[in-house]
Amino acid sequence: MLIDEEIENKEIAKQYKELLRISYLQLSGEDKKLIRLAFNTAVDAHKNQRRKSGEAYIFHPIAVAKIVASEIGLDAKSISAALLHDTVEDTPYTLNDIERLFGNTVAKIVHGLTKISRLKKDTDISLQAENFRKMLLTLTDDIRVIIIKIADRLHNMQTMDAMPEYKQVKIASETLYIYAPLAHRIGMFNIKTELEDLSLKYTEPQRFDAIKNKIDDSQEEQAKYIKEFSAFLKASLDKERLRYFIKGRSKSIFSIHKKMQAQNINYEQVFDKFAIRIVYKSTPKNEKFLAWKIYSIITDHFTPNPTRLRDWISSPKSNGYESLHITVMGPKNKWVEVQIRSERMHEIAEKGYAAHYRYKQGVEKDSGIDGWLNRLQEVLETKDSNAVDFVENFKLNLYSDEIFVFTPQGDLKSLPQDSSALDFAFHIHTEIGAKTRGARVNGKLVPLSRNLKSGDLIEIITSENAKPTANWLDYVITSRARNKIKASLNEEKKRLAEDGKEILRRKLKQLRVKLDEKSIQQLVVYFKVNSSLDLFYRVGLGTIDNKRIKEFAVSFNNSFLNFFKNRLRSNHQREGVETEEFVSKYDKLVFGKEREELPYKLSPCCKPISGDKVFGFVTINEGIKVHKHNCSNSLSLQSNFAYRIIPAWWVDSSEQEFTSELNLSGIDQIGLVNEVTRVISNNMHVDIKRLNFSTEEELFKGSILVRVKNQQTLHKLTQNLLKLKGIEKVTRK
Ligand code: MN
Repeated sequence: MLIDEEIENKEIAKQYKELLRISYLQLSGEDKKLIRLAFNTAVDAHKNQRRKSGEAYIFHPIAVAKIVASEIGLDAKSISAALLHDTVEDTPYTLNDIERLFGNTVAKIVHGLTKISRLKKDTDISLQAENFRKMLLTLTDDIRVIIIKIADRLHNMQTMDAMPEYKQVKIASETLYIYAPLAHRIGMFNIKTELEDLSLKYTEPQRFDAIKNKIDDSQEEQAKYIKEFSAFLKASLDKERLRYFIKGRSKSIFSIHKKMQAQNINYEQVFDKFAIRIVYKSTPKNEKFLAWKIYSIITDHFTPNPTRLRDWISSPKSNGYESLHITVMGPKNKWVEVQIRSERMHEIAEKGYAAHYRYKQGVEKDSGIDGWLNRLQEVLETKDSNAVDFVENFKLNLYSDEIFVFTPQGDLKSLPQDSSALDFAFHIHTEIGAKTRGARVNGKLVPLSRNLKSGDLIEIITSENAKPTANWLDYVITSRARNKIKASLNEEKKRLAEDGKEILRRKLKQLRVKLDEKSIQQLVVYFKVNSSLDLFYRVGLGTIDNKRIKEFAVSFNNSFLNFFKNRLRSNHQREGVETEEFVSKYDKLVFGKEREELPYKLSPCCKPISGDKVFGFVTINEGIKVHKHNCSNSLSLQSNFAYRIIPAWWVDSSEQEFTSELNLSGIDQIGLVNEVTRVISNNMHVDIKRLNFSTEEELFKGSILVRVKNQQTLHKLTQNLLKLKGIEKVTRK
């Protein structure tokens, strides 16, 4: 195509001037400078690009900027971002260039717009649309991203004719599904209506044309009706000295279509195809009062339908819409909706909050626009009852606990809220998760446990040597990641266990112990582990080290010897020889059900010795006296003073549990208390009854009440505690 560049350049310049002229907000000199720079940058960036229609690409960003400036009424930064919205995606300009030239805010907006356009475009439409919508709803870094994206979409819809039909349908469906409801949600009613009508034009062209023609045909009739209606009211309204205009408002093509479809009726049967709008001038103070005054005048002439009164003035919609709606029986006995609103309300209804804040802002311009944007942000985020229509449309609540993030390729992934970079890695692929070495979020290295936010772009750094550790379980919240890590840890455990088994076999061989079923069984008992797998794993891991294996081997070999010794000894016993050892084993008397140690005296009458069957007799002056069962006094004591008899047993004091208090002192160290408790609970048969620690300055003091089986255990415990760094003294009370 031959293009006259000179004419084109003139047209570009003209469009640019118009952009400045039609800005809804007043632009300062600085604003204009920023927009000028954005314009020049965009012109340069797109200089070699043309749209499908053949025109220079730059016309598109200018047109989008015009929508942003005029129809929506955004600020200079947004206008600039709109001009630049396709630069990073389509041209050699980078985000850094944009940031350097335009600062952080504009760069962030352009970045958001770039991310949206990088969404994979060729996947399933409905799925894509769904993802898209979810992302838009959660991508709330800067609401301007969404608004400019809507403007971008509007212009694309306005200029779709050169596109192949399948693309038109795809884009139109997506628009209907996502952008129109979003526009509605943030109060841009005009744009919403235009998006819907344009969508219908491409998705159902015949239907669109049919309805449009009928509306065009009925224009005259409609105008006549409005005139008739107005005539009834004019005298009364004028008498109240109201300044107003009355005009008709046609229902949009799309909403007529919807109604026909929903109620299965034809065009003629749609009765509220247009509404009458009364827009009045008012001071802010009188707005509400005047609305009801007009309401009163109208209902003097026409009967209202009480079920169809909507007072959006007393309680505006969450998207900022204000108006008083009534439906009355109008001329020719037709129900007609009347919308009563002030000029200010009207402008807000047409433009959204930009208008609202223009009314409010006065001097501080920036606080106005920021307030508006913040409000919009809230509107998008709140799920209050005012937002019912929106939630109804989209079941937003279903997705409130999801976030949407990007792969470096721009694929959108949804994850549960509070997911970490590691969750993301496992979400992408098990292999990637398992080999994760680190993660970059939005270009910065972050801990694997870092919670992700919607809109984050995550790059996983992998390494062949990386593998899951038990810590990883603390970093993830998705069951997928959790299961994969556990599986991997188990495999790792098995692998380590195999190594451990070989190590153990070798070590024991040197110590002359054969690793077989019997020794394994003893090892499991000795090291207090649950299974042979655990045993081998710990050896492989090194928590059961050479020293401890050696200790085992010694005791194992000794017990082997002891076994023979014992057999020799028991042979002696069979011959009636009572060994000393046997006597000393039952060296202690305990009394009663509780098997308490109590003070006692051995009775001189029968002189019981250890091992004898005995009982205690509670005397009045001398405490417990111990008698043999077969003592001559036994019978009379048992029959006359049964209540003073207390059962007694000889026990092995080495098997008897007793409580003991240990006092510790030393110099305080970080983690010392943990170390102390670890040592105690790692010792076999030690039960902690009470713990008491205190520090004063540097000094550490503690007392521990433990229950132990025997002196040896207590001794060992004392020795182990003394090994701890910081412990100086351990004494027994
Ligand atoms: Mn674009």
